[in-house]
Amino acid sequence: MAAVLVNLAMEGSAGGRPYAGLRDDALAEAFCVDLSDGMRRRLLSVKDAGARLFAVAGALRPVFEADDDGAAAAILNRLMCDYAARPCLFVDSGQPYHLHFLGDGETDVEALAAELAVSLALLMDAFARRRFGVCHARTCDRVYVDVTRNGSRLYCSDACSARMKMAEYRARSRGKRKTL
Ligand SMILES: [Zn+2]
Repeated sequence: MAAVLVNLAMEGSAGGRPYAGLRDDALAEAFCVDLSDGMRRRLLSVKDAGARLFAVAGALRPVFEADDDGAAAAILNRLMCDYAARPCLFVDSGQPYHLHFLGDGETDVEALAAELAVSLALLMDAFARRRFGVCHARTCDRVYVDVTRNGSRLYCSDACSARMKMAEYRARSRGKRKTL
């Protein structure tokens, strides 16, 4: 969810094409599309939800861009503090108790921001290192979260992975032709 928000909001390049980034209502609508009904209603009822989500995306992007694990951890520690993340047991209908880390922020958007920061921190905790970053493909700066078994993800999408494999293949073929 953190990667989705950053990728929707931030201007840059996506899979080799310029991407303008979404703002305001367009950002709020796009981000909420895949959320549960309850969460969508809560977020969309927040005044200036889109602007607030944009601010959260801007705060999260440096976590993905951090040069090393230490830098990522330092940013996450600050964000969990800024968004006042706090553990709290919840029970939803038909679900067992589970732990959330919603923040004590001004609105439900900042509460969610705390949860997103904690989720990324828990990923670092579970894997003892970062499992998120910026796409390694040329001309793409979208971010990703890596939940693969061996932590080998380098690209934001299958499309970027395929594009780079094709580029490598072409480069190798050119090299071979030169040595013949
Ligand atoms: Zn990419």
